[in-house]
Amino acid sequence: MPVNKETKYRHVFIDLDRTLWDFPSNSFEVMQDLFAHFLSEQRFVNFTNFFDLYERNNERLWQRYRDKLISKDKLWWYRFYTTLQQVGIENEFLAKQMGDFYVERSKTKTHLYPYTHELLSYLKRKYRLYIITNGFEEVQHAKIANCQLDSYFTHVFTSEKLGVQKPNPAIFHYALAHAGARAEESIMIGDDIEADIRGAAEVGLDQIFLNHNGRKVHFEPSYEVSNLEAITHIL
Ligand SMILES: [Mg+2]
Repeated sequence: MPVNKETKYRHVFIDLDRTLWDFPSNSFEVMQDLFAHFLSEQRFVNFTNFFDLYERNNERLWQRYRDKLISKDKLWWYRFYTTLQQVGIENEFLAKQMGDFYVERSKTKTHLYPYTHELLSYLKRKYRLYIITNGFEEVQHAKIANCQLDSYFTHVFTSEKLGVQKPNPAIFHYALAHAGARAEESIMIGDDIEADIRGAAEVGLDQIFLNHNGRKVHFEPSYEVSNLEAITHIL
């Protein structure tokens, strides 16, 4: 059991995808489901090949979405459309069906990183907890509910609802104001060095960088951990 320590913090803001919700495991499962549902009879397409192509297209198109070069309404199906094209299938209708399937099925996946529930119930006894997530309102709320995480959080702030994404300072300012929190008594936990960590630092919050793979980064966070359990040594 962690030692019950005193800190200067009262408010803890936490990222969702890849911090609590195990995005790689959940997404991989959805892609397997999707492949079995739509493409298993296409004998010339192999899952690994399809998945690798999709991952590359998805990453590229998300960057275009972040750069405001493509809309959310196009992103959700176009990442499948381009992937299908690369395996010789030209079918916008199928791509849209796959887009719907992906979003609907993702919400039902419940893999969390180890120690998520233990960490949140420990933190909840000491702090007010909030989610700040770059994601879609309905999808993120459904994930939180399906993973039985909702009772831990005072509020969930999504970029879609607020109209700005981390690291835009506006999302942090809004969350602080809504929470009635001062920056110096608040801390942000997240896995993305730019969006979560540098973004929070720029509005005066301390930060805990969850660095799953020990990758080198060019920004020094207030704290760095490699797993969720280690956060109980800080907070
Ligand atoms: Mg994240």
